[in-house]
Formats: sequence, C-alpha cells, structure tokens
Amino acid sequence: MEGRQATTPKKESCDQQAKCLKRIQSILDGGATDEEKQYFKDHIEVCQPCIDMYNLEKCIKEALQGKVEKKCCPEKIAAAIQAEITK
Ligand SMILES: [Zn+2]
Repeated sequence: MEGRQATTPKKESCDQQAKCLKRIQSILDGGATDEEKQYFKDHIEVCQPCIDMYNLEKCIKEALQGKVEKKCCPEKIAAAIQAEITK
C-alpha cells in the first residue's frame, strides 16, 4: 500500500502536449484569456514536460526579442533559436 505523498508527483509525459503547446504560445504572445492562464497555471503544477516546454518557449521568445543576454541559453535553447530563425 502506498502512503500519502506530501507532494503531488508530476507527470512525466503530457497527454495533451499539442494543446498545452498552443496554450503556452498564446500565453507568451499575450493572447491567452484569463481562463487559459489559470488553467495553465494549475497544469504546470503537475505536468513536468509542460514546465520544460514553457521555459524553453519563453527563452526562445525572449531571445528572439533580444531581451535576454546569455543567462538562460543552454545549448538546447540556442539550437531551438537557430531552428526558429532559419525556418
Ligand atoms: Zn501538459
């Protein structure tokens, strides 16, 4: 029997990643409704891949806008930015 867990275990995979990605993008674009934002806030509490995706998208966006220097640019993000701008 499993005891009660102190923290909610996060999901390791998202069953609605496509939807989540759309939501993330509209939030970052500033086009999300309050409802969407609220939903997403709750969702990333429990969904690890979406947290990662959010951070990645956010960094890409900020980098593309020239807002960030190098502080949040691990290779993964740099590669994603490259892909984004060479599309
Ligand atoms: Zn998710």
